[in-house]
Amino acid sequence: MLVLLLLCLQLAAGHELLAETLRVHFIDVGQGDAILLETDEHAVLVDAGESERAARYLSELEIHRLDLAVATHAHADHIGGFPAVFDTVEVRRLWYNGQEHTTVTFERFLDAALASEASYHEPVRGEEIAFGRLTIEVLHPEHSAAESEGHLHDENIVLRVRYGEFSALLTGDAEQSVEHELREREGLAMRSTVLKLGHHGSDTSSSREFLKAVCPAVVVYQAGRDNPYGHPHAEVLERVAAFTEAELFGTDRHGTVVIETDGVDYEVIPEREEAIEPKPSASCESL
Ligand SMILES: [Zn+2]
Repeated sequence: MLVLLLLCLQLAAGHELLAETLRVHFIDVGQGDAILLETDEHAVLVDAGESERAARYLSELEIHRLDLAVATHAHADHIGGFPAVFDTVEVRRLWYNGQEHTTVTFERFLDAALASEASYHEPVRGEEIAFGRLTIEVLHPEHSAAESEGHLHDENIVLRVRYGEFSALLTGDAEQSVEHELREREGLAMRSTVLKLGHHGSDTSSSREFLKAVCPAVVVYQAGRDNPYGHPHAEVLERVAAFTEAELFGTDRHGTVVIETDGVDYEVIPEREEAIEPKPSASCESL
């Protein structure tokens, strides 16, 4: 009887393991980035947009705790939403590159972080953190940016997310100089199932060489509809079409884009269906 019970428990556990999924939510926060990594047990938020929309989204999903929150850099369209997030959910850990910025938005972000119970860390290249099968690896920056007075985008935290065979490269607002460094150093390890285009699809990012190196199957950018910067730039969409065979999604067109994976297969679930031109025409394998 005991053996039978143990067997049943094992089967149940095994089944749960197979059924476990990762959902990557590219949350439509208007002009800005906010990406939620959600498994059955854990939740991680990478950037929080500028408004309260990310916090509201977490509430709607009934997420009450973030195991990790990452602020990639100090611009308002990435950190402006964090005070509302800290108000809404328990944040266990906060990762930030340490670079200081002189805006009121940055001050509010710091105040909210300090008032919270979150532990604080400035992650650097080579570090990894795992939550069950979900692994998050830091690709950039190389050192804490606490002393840096350079451009905020140069110190932007870049993450590679792995879940079984599935992977996603989260670039924040990294520009082509950072992409170049990553490509030189990581080589084939850059290949990822999903690429979030740097800097909202701006021409500052997503070089042809970088797109070819990552060779993504799905490309997502996060931008607000009719934003004043013209994001995503047409040149970038053309490069994605010319140098990858990826399916392209944008939060301005598709609303929140969720990618669900069991670690092998994945499915892209956009809030709205809308085609983006130009369509991919090439394979990065053949280029
Ligand atoms: Zn940005």
